[in-house]
Amino acid sequence: MHLLVPRNVRFECQRCARCCGDTSHRGRNLLLTKSEVEEISERTGLNPLSFATPISNKGIYQYRMKKRGGKCIFLDGKACRIYDIRPLVCRFYPFSVCKKDEKYVFNFAEDCPGIGLGDVVAEDVFEELVTEAQFKLRTS
Ligand code: SF4
Repeated sequence: MHLLVPRNVRFECQRCARCCGDTSHRGRNLLLTKSEVEEISERTGLNPLSFATPISNKGIYQYRMKKRGGKCIFLDGKACRIYDIRPLVCRFYPFSVCKKDEKYVFNFAEDCPGIGLGDVVAEDVFEELVTEAQFKLRTS
């Protein structure tokens, strides 16, 4: 697996839930695959259209999570109500990845308060994220 990852980036999540919604200077686009929507619907018993809006031209993503007051509809205070089945975009945050010339190129959100804190993120962590995404997308 060819990865291009940020070097010497430290990260420790501060559980601030900033990544779960919009901030004053950026909107958070919480994209979902069809299988993620189905899984959330099955778990919560909710109709998909009550928490997700269908979208087009976003590659593997076919829905956008709805927000309430600028925050993810499943955010409860600072806790995620679907944490164990949270979507890939949430699992990756503050990192994101795109594929360029057979390489997985990682980026990170510099405005995440956890960036710069804790230990340097090892390459294995990025590998695990890609492996998890590949598995999830293969089974979707
Ligand atoms: S990933 Fe960053 S923005 Fe999200 S809860 Fe953790 S510290 Fe806050």
